[in-house]
Amino acid sequence: MRTRVSKFFTKKRARPVPSPTSRQPHPARPTKKRQGDQTSLGTPMQAALQQQVESISITAFNRPFTHEAVWNARLQTTGGRYHLKDHHLDFNPKMKDQPDFDAIIKHELCHYHLHLLGRGYKHADADFKALLKQVGGSRYAPDVGARRTVKRKYHYTCSNGHLFDRARPVDTKRYRCGRCRGKLTLVKKDD
Ligand SMILES: [Zn+2]
Ligand SMILES: [Zn+2]
Repeated sequence: MRTRVSKFFTKKRARPVPSPTSRQPHPARPTKKRQGDQTSLGTPMQAALQQQVESISITAFNRPFTHEAVWNARLQTTGGRYHLKDHHLDFNPKMKDQPDFDAIIKHELCHYHLHLLGRGYKHADADFKALLKQVGGSRYAPDVGARRTVKRKYHYTCSNGHLFDRARPVDTKRYRCGRCRGKLTLVKKDD
């Protein structure tokens, strides 16, 4: 029996026409080598993560995950991150034993599969929202950074899906994403 998820991917659907600003090509920038402070590949902990992501990809998305999933201790307040350039996923080692870690993996896999399929892979995209709901992915990776006392109430995303949380509002006309120079949009403001 076919799952709802596979239907999601195969069914041809009309898509909203993207506004000219929301589909800017990723600006060219020098390729940065991945940092060496990730938990090294080949360790049992690393292999277990790769296995877990591959397995969730098949069971929840009915599609294989064919890139790398790595622990990255540099992630401080996010649980995971998808990299558009080489399609690898980073996960925060602090999330390892959290009960909702599977949901965080699903969230990142939504970015991964939709991006590779040329669908709307950003948080604000209808494709992303629909798929996230279908597979039961977490809406926002939980804040695991206990070192912060300031409440970061403002949540922004750039045109390439990088997320930022700020205590104070950001002037999105003046400031751009620090990672890719993409345009910033406010996605959520906590009360
Ligand atoms: Zn995300
Ligand atoms: Zn960005």
